[in-house]
Amino acid sequence: NYKDIATPLRTKMLLDKYGFSFKKSLGQNFLVDTNVINNIISASGITEKSGIIEIGPGMGSLTEQLAKRAKKVLAFEIDQRLIPILEDTMSPYDNVTVINEDILKADVKAAIETHLSDCEEILVVANLPYYITTPILMGLLEQHLPIKSYVVMMQKEVGDRLSAVPSTKSYGSLSIAVQYYTTVEKVMVVPKGVFMPPPNVDSLVVKLTTLPHPAVQVEDEALFFKLTRSAFVQRRKTILNNYMSVIKESKLYKEDIIKWLEESGVEPNRRGESLSLNEFAELSNNFKHFNT
Ligand code: SAM
Repeated sequence: NYKDIATPLRTKMLLDKYGFSFKKSLGQNFLVDTNVINNIISASGITEKSGIIEIGPGMGSLTEQLAKRAKKVLAFEIDQRLIPILEDTMSPYDNVTVINEDILKADVKAAIETHLSDCEEILVVANLPYYITTPILMGLLEQHLPIKSYVVMMQKEVGDRLSAVPSTKSYGSLSIAVQYYTTVEKVMVVPKGVFMPPPNVDSLVVKLTTLPHPAVQVEDEALFFKLTRSAFVQRRKTILNNYMSVIKESKLYKEDIIKWLEESGVEPNRRGESLSLNEFAELSNNFKHFNT
């Protein structure tokens, strides 16, 4: 439909009408392809009972398609210049609320309670601002919000990291953190040309489905995440060497670390990138025995 916002024609008309200029620093690459939008929508499984959180609605290309299908849409947009444009483009819909706030500073939990409490499920659907993909996702996941799933577009390289398995180049502490809370599926690769202006990188739509319980049982989440991050500080070093240089404050001797690794079933000369979530969980749950 030529009237959809996610078309080059309508987007150009809106840019002209409002004299809007893109801010690269805010990751403003607007979608101008209805096909990609339709794929995002169908991957998200929206129903008329869903409450949607969108991060960065831009001029509303995705928002309007969400509004047509969901019960309510709550969109966080940092750029105040877009607010009057969204008021215009969203005027046919009475189920969209736009909050002019930085998603990294917003009280999302309170906003869900205020705006989406009558929805049966909460889904995040967004074409993310790529410069803050990781803090946005980790921030939402760590808050244990009642979000059922996330269908989000991000730069391809970051999407590859989210879904990476051990012993691959993309596997790291981000893969582990996201896979601790969710199952990760790749939905589609998206070429640069469907955005205005085109970004420098290819994109990936990823679906994260929140697990009923974290993927592995850990007694101390903070310690688990600390150990996973430390294991990748120097990727080419062994897990033993990484832990020796990082866990200084623990007052452990080399022999203690070797003993802890071995009793957790991890060969000290392995590289951190080869360890699974289960092995990191084992390490963190055994740590206290050696930390006296
Ligand atoms: N959803 C629109 C689309 O697909 O056409 C725009 C997507 S664009 C990739 C990212 C959007 O996020 C921009 O509208 C930008 O202004 C907004 N944004 C950037 N940083 C933000 C932040 N910290 N909080 C909320 N929105 C942000």
